[in-house]
Amino acid sequence: MAVRKIITPPDPLLKKPSLLVKEVDDSIRELVRDMFDTMYAAPGIGLAAVQIGVPLSVIVMDTAREEEEPRPLALINPQIVWASEETRAQEEGCLSVPDIYDEVERPAEVRVRYLDLDGKEQEKHFTGLDATCVQHEIDHTKGILFIDHLGRLKRERYLKKVIKKARQMQEA
Ligand SMILES: [Zn+2]
Repeated sequence: MAVRKIITPPDPLLKKPSLLVKEVDDSIRELVRDMFDTMYAAPGIGLAAVQIGVPLSVIVMDTAREEEEPRPLALINPQIVWASEETRAQEEGCLSVPDIYDEVERPAEVRVRYLDLDGKEQEKHFTGLDATCVQHEIDHTKGILFIDHLGRLKRERYLKKVIKKARQMQEA
């Protein structure tokens, strides 16, 4: 078990698009294990590799509630191949933007193509919270944070808060 450090703004890595994984090998499977450990420890429902400082297009998620069986899902090189016109608004948070929550409107349903942990191509249809979560994580692979979907004033206010808090924690 390896819980890794989660990066926060102003780390420039969070703004950089991630690289595609060329081959799903043991190093990728180990990365995914660390990502699940880090996500469950946080706790959170989704994590992108870039958030632990690895700019590769890998995301993990598990939206199961505490009383439900875990539903861990790892997606390598995820890509949205279809999105519904219908949208849904959901309050989002992010392990890289701690203590900030705000509503983001996104397509209500998406279809995602990705590689599984055996390197096999898969497609999966996401709805509800899963659709929001997978879009949030895919955004990370493109260097986009959920606060980037909000207005400029809100985004800047939130960023300032996060950066100030990170500095205080370093000094403490
Ligand atoms: Zn996030």
